[in-house]
Amino acid sequence: MRLSRYFLPVLKEDPKEAQIVSHRYMLRAGMIKQQAAGIYSWLPLGYRVLKRIEQIVHEEQIRAGHIPLLMPTLQPADLWRESGRYDDYGQEMLRIKDRHERDMLYGPTNEEMITDIFRSHVSSYKDLPLTLYHIQWKFRDEMRPRFGVMRGREFFMKDGYNFDIDRDSALHAYNRHMVSYLRTYERMGLTAIPMRAASGPIGGDNTHEFLVLANTGESEVFYDDRVTALKLGDRAVDYDNRAEVAGVCDEFTTLYARTDETHDAALFDQIPAEHQKVGRGIEVGQIFYFGTKYSEAMGATVVTPDGSKVPVEMGSHGIGVSRLLGAIIEASHDEKGIIWPEGVTPFPVGIVNLKQGDAAADEACAALEKALLAKGLEPLYDDRDERAGAKFATMDLIGLPWRITVGPRGLQKGVVELTSRRSGESEELSPEAAVERIVEIYAAHR
Ligand code: ATP
Ligand code: MG
Repeated sequence: MRLSRYFLPVLKEDPKEAQIVSHRYMLRAGMIKQQAAGIYSWLPLGYRVLKRIEQIVHEEQIRAGHIPLLMPTLQPADLWRESGRYDDYGQEMLRIKDRHERDMLYGPTNEEMITDIFRSHVSSYKDLPLTLYHIQWKFRDEMRPRFGVMRGREFFMKDGYNFDIDRDSALHAYNRHMVSYLRTYERMGLTAIPMRAASGPIGGDNTHEFLVLANTGESEVFYDDRVTALKLGDRAVDYDNRAEVAGVCDEFTTLYARTDETHDAALFDQIPAEHQKVGRGIEVGQIFYFGTKYSEAMGATVVTPDGSKVPVEMGSHGIGVSRLLGAIIEASHDEKGIIWPEGVTPFPVGIVNLKQGDAAADEACAALEKALLAKGLEPLYDDRDERAGAKFATMDLIGLPWRITVGPRGLQKGVVELTSRRSGESEELSPEAAVERIVEIYAAHR
């Protein structure tokens, strides 16, 4: 993509309404535009990151054996009357009447609808286990939408629902979700710690929230800091192997890590003092096992091998896809702007032409662009007739992890400069070697 033809409405001034760094940088980098409180347009750069995050979520859900589908944003109120939540949900639910005076709502979540789909088509244990999920816009009429995409009213969420024959199978589905979430966040360059959570309006007994540590987070967290060193890495987990999946969950949930809602001071005090940490965190996901709460209320039953009919065991599992953009920026930025982890960056690399109009520089940039595209790595080429300083400032703000700088002087020596956004370190290389290096770096991420 050539910057001269792109739509990147960068702001020079800090927007006054932004209280936290991720919101400020998302506005300044031209990623989002607010249309109403908590409702945003996703401008091209923001949209690219959103799609990238969505893609990683899909890949890891599919790897875990979960099946994507798509449910609508608008739902009939009658489904929610069956579960009893139409009245319980309160003012966060946006209620709408259609032209025939039928009660509708903009879905804040989808337990009722997925249970309806299940009961219409599945009636035997032979069709289990089954986990269906979608990535769809949600609406919650939050009292205080704030911090940009962190607490929106309209937001993009992955929500998945498991259907199982018994409690053990449902707990295996719960564990599968935990492992797939750990892998998802790691691919995004995040450390998200599973913390024991209190069950909210969805109800249930087994539930963990995933928190990214950040001092702007809305949750207070208490943890043993050794938990932050745990990594899944690239180990292969067999998602069908119950013991193996449970083992990984144990590894990540044995050390103390809780939010203020479940905090237990006596247990916390048993952690060696040097490892006790109190901080703040951003909730980027949550998993729930709630058993038969919805299946019983809505008559979603299955026939067991011995011929009896039982309500299906369920759980629901969410990831805050749009919130993740904010969380990643909170965890990865400096005073110049965003620093995207390679896994989610909108463009893998930026090309800065120091002397637009210089025949050798223009030609070398075009050749780099072509070589990268041929490797499936689309660069953002700043081909504007701007000062070098302005081009660097834009690249630093939008946070591409790698930059190739091309100028007439370097080209005389046969080199370009490859710079890491994170470390700030530069290296002179031939253009071919620079492309090679970028290809190697991204081989591990795509
Ligand atoms: P919160 O406690 O932050 O209000 P929640 O527990 O009500 O969130 P869930 O029902 O668990 O939210 O939804 C799954 C995920 O969706 C959350 O973990 C969070 O990452 C994301 N999410 C929830 N509400 C919002 C919102 N208003 N804006 C953006 N993302 C949200
Ligand atoms: Mg939650």
